[in-house]
Formats: sequence, C-alpha cells, structure tokens
Amino acid sequence: MKVPFVDLKVQYQSIKEEIFEALNKVLDNTAFILGKEVQLFEEEFAEYQEAKYGVAVNSGTTALLISLLCLEIGRGDEVIIPANTFIATAEAVSFTGAKPVLVDVKENTMNIDVNKIEEKITDKTKAIIPVHLYGQPADMDVITEIAQKYKLVVIEDACQAHGAEYKGKKTGSLGKIGCFSFYPGKNLGAYGEGGIILTDDKDIAKKARMIRDHGSEKKYYHNIKGINGRMEGFQGAILRVKLKYLDEWIDARRKNARRYNEILKSLDVITPYEESFNKHVYHLYVVRIKKREQLQNYLKDKEIFTGIHYPIPIHLQESYKDLGCDEGDFPVTEMLADEILSLPMYPELSDEQIEYVCENIKEFLSKYEA
Ligand SMILES: *Cc1c(COP(=O)(O)O)cnc(C)c1O
Repeated sequence: MKVPFVDLKVQYQSIKEEIFEALNKVLDNTAFILGKEVQLFEEEFAEYQEAKYGVAVNSGTTALLISLLCLEIGRGDEVIIPANTFIATAEAVSFTGAKPVLVDVKENTMNIDVNKIEEKITDKTKAIIPVHLYGQPADMDVITEIAQKYKLVVIEDACQAHGAEYKGKKTGSLGKIGCFSFYPGKNLGAYGEGGIILTDDKDIAKKARMIRDHGSEKKYYHNIKGINGRMEGFQGAILRVKLKYLDEWIDARRKNARRYNEILKSLDVITPYEESFNKHVYHLYVVRIKKREQLQNYLKDKEIFTGIHYPIPIHLQESYKDLGCDEGDFPVTEMLADEILSLPMYPELSDEQIEYVCENIKEFLSKYEA
C-alpha cells in the first residue's frame, strides 16, 4: 500500500465535470482576471465564513500584506505573531517595513501562548496576527481582550483554517480582518495560487480592493500606491465549485483524525489536542514523537509520506537573522520543531490507509524502543 501525504487527484476526479464547466464559463467570457466568477466567489466565501466583505487576491501572503497596508502599518511599527507558523506570516509584516515580534506557543495546541503576548507589547506595537495553526483556532477571546486594552488591531491568519470554528463562530471574521490562502494543498485549494481578505469594515474592504489593483478604482487613475494582487478568473470559478463540498471534506478530515486518535492513543505518540470550544478542521494532523527523523525515514521506506510543519522556527532561519534571536529564545517552539510529524491527511484518505500508517508506527516503536 502507498500512502501519499496529500492526494489532490482523487478529489479532482470526483468533481472533474463541474470543473470543466466552470473553466469553460471563464473562457467563453474571457474573464481571466477578477470578473464575475471571482466576484461571486468573494460573496459566497464571505457568507460561508460569516463575514460581510471578501476581497479575492492572488495568494495568502498577498492577503496578509494587503491587510497590513490597509492599516498603514509600516516602518517603525511592530506586529506580534506566533513563533511557530509558516514563514509567510512574518514575511508579510517585514515587507511593509514593520518588525515581526515573535511570541512562543502553547505546548498542547501549538498556537500562540496568550499569556506571553502582553510582555511583548511596546508603544510601537500596532497589531496582533494570531495564526489558526494546522486548522485549530487560536484563543481569540483573550487575544481580542488584549487588543482592546492596548488599542491593537487583530488580523487573523486563517490560511489553514477554512471552516474552522471558535466557540461556534467561524474563523476569519473574529478579528478586524481575516486572511485565507487557497494554495492547492489547503483545505479549500485552488488549481493555482489564490487568497482572500475578509472584513466587516466597508472602508477596509474598499481600500483592500484598491491596493490589490494598483491603488485604483478607475483604470489608470491611482489614488494610493498599490500592487498587482488580483485573483485569476479560473481560480474564482474553481473555488466556487469546491466551496460547495468544503463542509463534506472537513467532516471527512475530522473523521480521519478521530480514527488516527483511536488507534494511536495506545502508543507512545502524542496526538493533536483539540480545545473543547474549537472545531479543528485538521488541515494537518500533527503528532509528537521522539526519534521523529528515524520514524519519518522508516515510514518513507514503506511508501508512507509525511511532512514537518515546520522543521526550523522563524527565529532560527537564515532570512531572519536580523531579529537577533538565539537558540533557546522560544523553547516550546524549538522543542516542538524537533518532535512534530504531520501524518498523511486529506478527506479521501481511507480507513485502511490510516490503519496501515498506524501499524507501521507501532512496528517502528517496538523496534526502536527496545
Ligand atoms: C499557506 C499559508 C500562508 C501563505 O499562503 P500562500 O497562499 O501560500 O501565500 C500564510 N500563513 C499560513 C499559516 C499558511 O499556512
């Protein structure tokens, strides 16, 4: 048996006809950039995530960058982000000229440790970007409270959390702005690059729309400085088709996670912790295990493919040397980086495949624990 880390082909096969129809609509209208399909997708996705406005862009990174630009965050400002996240969260801050300020994460959820945020706030701090990592919402009530106390803006990095819920409410509409990625491997993935900005604030939505299109509302009249951050027509049409299935796919991911949990609980593996008030959408199913490297290679030999999210924390990356951090500065993040392993996870993963993965983990543990 072969178990890929993700399998985009099986899902595509199941919706192929609809995708062809959607692509044809775009071709017939030659609506290659933005256009009607993108506009409808903006409305449908915003409604799904319980936000008022959606502004579709060409990646999750662009969504974060434009959000920060809308708030006029830049040189001299500081933005708080978790130490354990994908590099894009930090890069978006850096490219405005502002400084990302890292906060360590909690061992159980691996999300930002809300008890360590206040000590990082200075008079330069302008915003907090909580990341709903692996598909599990960060503790938004506490973050919102801190933000109100210090007059900071909250931008959610919901790039891994489409459809996730915090205390019964959808992520991406809990902060001032929510950012999503439609990178193909995400829970809602385009067939290319894509992203979206969600907000209930009409003025921010308007400004985001302008910034994604060179700062203009009217062609060749540029009111503010912007970039090319527009979504392609094909991606909007594809995402509209796929959005209809998102809840079904999330249910399948959650079912797969439960199956893994059941089998792994008897082994020396730490399974993902889900807060009782959260609906985790398992973009990634991340376990913790000693001898992670050996296990990953062992599984690879059995044609079981896994990932590490992320092997090197931001503060120890070459590109972030300028933060002036050292090893030991974010102990929880560093400890996790050495122990985490993302097991195969996608909606179409079968019970047999999950059992096969777990059997091999068990076999590895019995061989290497002796
Ligand atoms: C994927 C991702 C991004 C960036 O999205 P892209 O569409 O790849 O630019 C940002 N933050 C997090 C947490 C992500 O997982």
